[in-house]
This record gives sequence, structure tokens and C-alpha cells, in this order.
Amino acid sequence: MEVHIVTIFPDFFRGPLDYGIVRRAREAGLVKIEIHDLRAFTRDRHRTVDDRPFGGGAGMVLKPEPIFECVESLLASKAASREERARAKESVVLLSAQGQRFDQKLAGELAQLDRLVLICGRYEGVDERVGTHLADREISIGDYVLSGGELGAAVIVDAITRLIPGAVGNEASTRQESFFAGPELGDNGLSDKNVRPTQGDSTCGSGGLLDYPHYTRPADFRGMKVPEVLLDGNHEEIKRWRRRSALEKTKRNRPDLLSRVELSEEDRKLLTKQ
Ligand code: SAM
Repeated sequence: MEVHIVTIFPDFFRGPLDYGIVRRAREAGLVKIEIHDLRAFTRDRHRTVDDRPFGGGAGMVLKPEPIFECVESLLASKAASREERARAKESVVLLSAQGQRFDQKLAGELAQLDRLVLICGRYEGVDERVGTHLADREISIGDYVLSGGELGAAVIVDAITRLIPGAVGNEASTRQESFFAGPELGDNGLSDKNVRPTQGDSTCGSGGLLDYPHYTRPADFRGMKVPEVLLDGNHEEIKRWRRRSALEKTKRNRPDLLSRVELSEEDRKLLTKQ
């Protein structure tokens, strides 16, 4: 998979994408990440990327010309329609606080692409024509306003890289992590089809829930003890405990997720058991 990040601060990415799973995935050739300096696509002496907003108001807005030129230079065909791009497994995303909220399901969809272009906004934002005529979608990483799209781009690249087969040593572990619901994608890998979360296939299977609690040695740390059940080696009991803990934690921290998950009869019993 290729990821192209368009930014006015290319040095911003020295670091965040050079560690751990993302670094190993890059080195293994599973993902190729290229950073593009938007100023390289300007034509004036001052390498201007922004301008004042029509209609007045505070701040500056990123101009459309360099962004269109940069993104078009990265796509297989600059004249391709959105449908053709989807068929070619390419997508252009504008980072925006006003976009669709990024989540694990969307990460799973984007991880199916061959080429992803991420446009980072700055200042008051980006000329609206970038969102309406160039990008396939706008994505927000949460309901708050950041100074630029770079942190969001790094978040998206990290989350999708973990889902590329081979990136995480034990692939089963990504299937049992929080929120994992098993992507059911359309032909183009970008369907908005409603995904019904299913139960995972691990010891507790996230199945759209939060992950279960993890412990390691020492078994007693300053009097804080690891639950006895995890030390006994009874795998059926451990599995039940993990599932119940995941259900309880989800109910406590993210009750909204519970309503989207298909609970089994056993899950319902575990949830009501004290
Ligand atoms: N005026 C915009 C608004 O009120 O929605 C905010 C612009 S923000 C200061 C500058 C840039 O940061 C945006 O163009 C976008 O690329 C990025 N950005 C800000 N918040 C974001 C978020 N929650 N998710 C993704 N990108 C964000």
C-alpha cells in the first residue's frame, strides 16, 4: 500500500512514523509512505500556499491550486472520476474537523486501498473546492479542533498500518483488540454498508467491544494483585473472565458500543452476573 501525505510542514513527520510497527512495515515494504511539501507545487517567488478568505473574516485559507496540482500528480489518472478511483483502489482524503469521524471500521476500509492520499489543512482550513471536487471524503479524528491535519494523518497511518496483513507479528491480536468488528466491505473496499459487528475468534473476541484487561508479572505489585483466575491455568475460566471483563468495561466506559454489538445469551448472563 502507498500512502501520500500532503503538508506544508513535511518535517513534522520525522519521528511519528519512524517507530515500532509502522517503521517495521515500511522496512518490510508493506507500506510505502511519502511526504509531499505543498510549497513545491506553488509557482510564485514566495511559494505562497494560503490567501485571505473571500467575504472577509479572520485567518488565512489554503489555496486550491497547489493542492490540486500536488494530488493530481500522485494519482494514476488526474481525470479519473471518484468511481474510477474507487475501482483503482485509490482514495483522496481531506483531514478536517468537519469530516466523518475516524474509527476502527473506517481504518479497516482504508487499509484495503492500494493508494491513499491524505491532505493536511492548516490555518482557518482549506478552500472548500478541495473537499467538494478533489477529495473523496473528509475525515475528522475527533470532535475538537487541531491546528493542522498532520497529527490526524499520523493517527490514520498508524491505525491502518496495523491492519495490513503481516504488519503486526500476531495477526490474531488485531482481531481481538478494542472495537474490532470484522470489516464487511463492498466491492471497492470503501462501502458505507452498515457493518454488523460479530463476535471475534480470540479467547474473548473483542467483537466490537473494548479489549479485556491485560496483566503481566509481578502477580502482586504493591499489594495490587492480578485476578486469581488468570494464574490458575483454566483456559475456559480465563476465557469467560476476559469476556465478562470486556463486557463490563464497555458498559462502564462506552455504553454506546454495547448497543451496536450482537450479544450472545452467554454474554447477557455474564453482564448481569456480579
Ligand atoms: N476552521 C476550521 C473549523 O472550524 O472546522 C478549523 C481549521 S483547523 C484550525 C486547521 C486544519 O486542521 C484543518 O483544515 C484540518 O486539516 C485540521 N484539523 C483540525 N481539527 C481536525 C480534526 N479534528 N480532525 C482532522 N483534522 C483536523
